[in-house]
Amino acid sequence: METAAPPHRVAVLGATGSIGSSALDLIARHPERLHASILAAGRQVDALVALCRTHRPEHAVIADPALYPALRDGLAAAGLSTQAHAGDAALCELVAGEVCDTVVAAIVGAAGLDSTLAAARAGKRLLLANKESLVMAGALVMAEAAHGGAWVLPIDSEHNALFQCLPGGRVDDGVRRLVLTASGGPFRGRSRASLSGVTPAQAVAHPKWSMGAKISVDSATLMNKGLEVIEAHHLFGLGSAQLGVLVHPQSLVHALVEYVDGSTLAQLGLPDMRTALAVGFGWPERIASGVSPLDLLEHGRLEFEAPDLDSFPCLRLARDALEAGGTAPAVLNAANEVAVSAFLQGQVGFLSIPAIVESVLAALPPVEASSLLAAREADAQARQLATRFLNRYAAA
Ligand code: NAD
Ligand code: MG
Repeated sequence: METAAPPHRVAVLGATGSIGSSALDLIARHPERLHASILAAGRQVDALVALCRTHRPEHAVIADPALYPALRDGLAAAGLSTQAHAGDAALCELVAGEVCDTVVAAIVGAAGLDSTLAAARAGKRLLLANKESLVMAGALVMAEAAHGGAWVLPIDSEHNALFQCLPGGRVDDGVRRLVLTASGGPFRGRSRASLSGVTPAQAVAHPKWSMGAKISVDSATLMNKGLEVIEAHHLFGLGSAQLGVLVHPQSLVHALVEYVDGSTLAQLGLPDMRTALAVGFGWPERIASGVSPLDLLEHGRLEFEAPDLDSFPCLRLARDALEAGGTAPAVLNAANEVAVSAFLQGQVGFLSIPAIVESVLAALPPVEASSLLAAREADAQARQLATRFLNRYAAA
């Protein structure tokens, strides 16, 4: 008699976020295949407890240790047997242990690095949305994944699209170039001068994707595409020259692979991260995601244009950092996190984001980044320096 395989036990890191909620939507659609065994969030205790009520995980983790009592009491008050934990070390231990075999890495920023590495080392099926961990320490994450036997499935839509267009998910000699598309963000077509007074609310109002605040600002500056070029370098092993970027305002074509024989393969779909997550959970099988099929007649047009590096210099800064190598991408990422957070809090203007990143990169020449320690030191130095620069750019 054939018995059904037990469901995959999934750790959703960043469960209260945009990717986390899409992942949980998929898990709920496939109870026979997927079970959320660990849910983790940064500081949103009430939202985390509410998710535990719905998904009944064995473990819940809050990053901020001061919030542990609130989580423990909230779970108890809800009558749940979910165990409460706090802190990054507890999270990494759970991620590496037996309670999960699949990890959705969807914490935002460099804060996601340790848990991503823990999943890589422990040989998990790693659905990697946290692009900052690859930007900060990509060589290390990929080496640990190879060594630990982890399967890295890219969840960023462009990289997921490339994965789908590449046989075996890998680049070989037959590939000429990979092309990532970018929506262009809410300020596409605007001059640099016209961007000086834009507000955080305008910057996070993305025309096509609904996402967390940080990545929405990154999309508005085009830093997101810059981070994605670096991410693609680590996932697929190509240099900047073979990683193209094309602005495509409809956000229906997510990426393209150019082959040496003149073929170009593209992946298309509505802008909904559940498609990429369904690929990550199901591959090599296709599973339903709740995303409607793409009706090209309804959309009618697919347009493409070159990115405007004068209005959006962050893409150029990211390419320069990739070419400079060593700790430069970690410095870029950390300076950007500080600048974006200050912009969201109204401390600096939109154009200060590239200015701060550029100043920090100029002040911290790259050194070799073979160890985690080197990446962490570069990250800490860049954060410190960027924070000092905030005053210089205040209200600029
Ligand atoms: P979000 O802001 O909506 O959610 C972030 C999640 O991370 C929240 O659950 C938050 O509680 C958690 N978190 C924050 N700091 C933490 C910490 N120190 N420790 C533990 N948890 C912490 O962000 P998002 O839009 O879901 O993006 C998550 C990641 O996925 C980012 O790296 C982003 O670049 C990437 N990504 C997102 C999308 C998207 O469509 N949203 C697309 C591609 C890639
Ligand atoms: Mg993307």
